[in-house]
Amino acid sequence: MERYVIGIDLGGSKMAAALADGQGRVLAEERRPTPVEAGAEGVLSALAELVEDLLRAQNLTERDLSAVGLGIPGMIDRERGLCLFSPNLFWRNVDVAGFWRERFSCRLVVDNDVRLGAVAEAEWGAGRGARDLIFVALGTGIGSGLILGGEVYRGSRGLAGEIGHITVSRDGPVCNCGNHGCLEVYAAGPAIARRAQEAMASEPESLLWRLAGGDKEKVTAELVSLAADQGDELAQRIWEETGEYLGIGLASVATLLNPERIVVGGGVAQAGEKLFRPLVRTLKARAMTAPGLTYPVLPAALGSAAGVRGAVAAALKL
Ligand SMILES: [Zn+2]
Repeated sequence: MERYVIGIDLGGSKMAAALADGQGRVLAEERRPTPVEAGAEGVLSALAELVEDLLRAQNLTERDLSAVGLGIPGMIDRERGLCLFSPNLFWRNVDVAGFWRERFSCRLVVDNDVRLGAVAEAEWGAGRGARDLIFVALGTGIGSGLILGGEVYRGSRGLAGEIGHITVSRDGPVCNCGNHGCLEVYAAGPAIARRAQEAMASEPESLLWRLAGGDKEKVTAELVSLAADQGDELAQRIWEETGEYLGIGLASVATLLNPERIVVGGGVAQAGEKLFRPLVRTLKARAMTAPGLTYPVLPAALGSAAGVRGAVAAALKL
């Protein structure tokens, strides 16, 4: 009998799921808004419904399912299937595995969403063939997944990969984590918007004022990208500096871990060349070199599908 798996990427605004066969071929996909305001119980119920609907649409039942993989943006205790903390979902100590066991009998693997994204990029995306890979996801926050020697590196408590919280400046704005000058307070989406807003005060000629309808608060990283593409100097400078901060952070990580490849994804990476150019230049200038050593930086290949595909991969490995 053919067995299937389901991979789910639970985000702060959307949840996406895919049903795949035993070879990881995706047969059906579904995307729904995440009812964050309904609390953990409400979100998990919506998730269970999504699984049931996906099965029903293919004339399958839970008995046809061998496992489900679930990616959550936050700190995860994989062994116990707990979400320790998720700032995006406003969850603390949510017993995801416990909830699952009450409704389903098939196995569930819960993991951090960026770690799963790294697995997917390594298996099917821009990291294919690399045994030592750093996958960085730039979005509302900055996370990474480290694949070392062909395996996901998790660290002693499963929290390895928090690249957004390495320090890139001695002083600097306070981060959500409590530290000062973290990479995330310079290069995550909201930080890019904030830095642009600060610079706008002394540059009334910037195109950003017009794009934001005269209201600084309306500036987003996306708008800063648009302004830069239309030749706005302030916006171009913001991207130049963002790339430099990322290059500084990644140079430290590359010097420490000596990866074969670095894959950069997430919404902010959509900025493209204006971000990658200064990033690569800074990385090259600051990482320790050796004859013939380079650190290729590639844009992620799977886009927003990386989380779901990684969850499918995790379910297949169970
Ligand atoms: Zn931090």
